[in-house]
Amino acid sequence: MRDFEFLEPASVAEASRMLADLGDSCRVFAGGTALMLGMRQRMLTPSHLVSLGRLEDLRRIGFDPRGGLRIGALALHADVARSPVVQAHYPMLASMASRVANPQVRNQGTIGGNLCYADPATDPPGCLMALGAQIVVSGTGGERVIGIEDFLVDYYVTALAGDEVVTEIRLPPPAAGADGLYSRFLRTAAEHRPLASVALSVRRERAFCVDVRLAVGASTPIPARLRRAEALLAGKTVTAELAAEAADIVAADINAVSDLRGSASYRREMVRVVARRTISGLFGVASE
Ligand SMILES: Cc1cc2nc3c(=O)[nH]c(=O)nc-3n(C[C@H](O)[C@H](O)[C@H](O)COP(=O)(O)OP(=O)(O)OC[C@H]3O[C@@H](n4cnc5c(N)ncnc54)[C@H](O)[C@@H]3O)c2cc1C
Repeated sequence: MRDFEFLEPASVAEASRMLADLGDSCRVFAGGTALMLGMRQRMLTPSHLVSLGRLEDLRRIGFDPRGGLRIGALALHADVARSPVVQAHYPMLASMASRVANPQVRNQGTIGGNLCYADPATDPPGCLMALGAQIVVSGTGGERVIGIEDFLVDYYVTALAGDEVVTEIRLPPPAAGADGLYSRFLRTAAEHRPLASVALSVRRERAFCVDVRLAVGASTPIPARLRRAEALLAGKTVTAELAAEAADIVAADINAVSDLRGSASYRREMVRVVARRTISGLFGVASE
């Protein structure tokens, strides 16, 4: 690994100034789980790391019934999973976070680092997309709030400018009748990363689907909302047949990637199965 300098700013503003001054040769360091792997493999060779470790405020998770949820970028996956307010108001998010990787990664990796790396084979981005997340970023020019669908630009690419740091993830308050289910499919039990994921967030009255957001992740370059399938489900009573029809649309509409872990056609089939089970599972209708 190339030698580097480890900088520890005392504020977000100082971190942004460092990033602006040092330019491309520098990287933000949060939990280091993704960064260290990239540096050991010499895929990344920064001369400086700007650690966020002293910015305690970025670890907070807070909920307000009117404002919704605010998760500091430095919250660990394990913090999100065991947060009482996340468990009470966003159980789908808590459940997703409790399944990320393994205990080591959950207790070292941060939710902000996960989003900023934009590795497609991960869990939070799709789940946060289905929950309507907004990403708060701060740079030398001030703060911006970006919807997650605009924040995630492409395979390992985000909308972050070079001097910007993600400070917070915001979720709107859950509406009356809100419910959700996050499902992930692993190719083998020993492989931690998902090959496909489906996040379904709805407003429902028993089996009647009032409103829906459905996002597929891990099998596509970046997670995507499946709007044709959403339109099919919204305003209907969900049956096993409707769930299967929506899952077929999901599978047809995704931009499936093909790589060493699975071909595009394999991923498409897995997404079809996971989507059908997720929709029918949430609405309690039979699915083989
Ligand atoms: C063995 C292994 C298995 C894994 N399995 C899964 C899995 O099953 N599911 C899953 O979801 N994820 C999985 N991951 C990925 C894991 O979620 C991420 O590695 C982790 O969340 C990254 O967070 P970090 O704090 O360690 O980021 P770092 O490694 O510190 O940073 C990652 C990148 O984001 C940038 N960055 C970090 N924080 C910020 C910020 N606040 N603002 C701006 N830029 C920032 C860094 O500069 C770097 O480019 C796995 C990782 C490993 C190593």
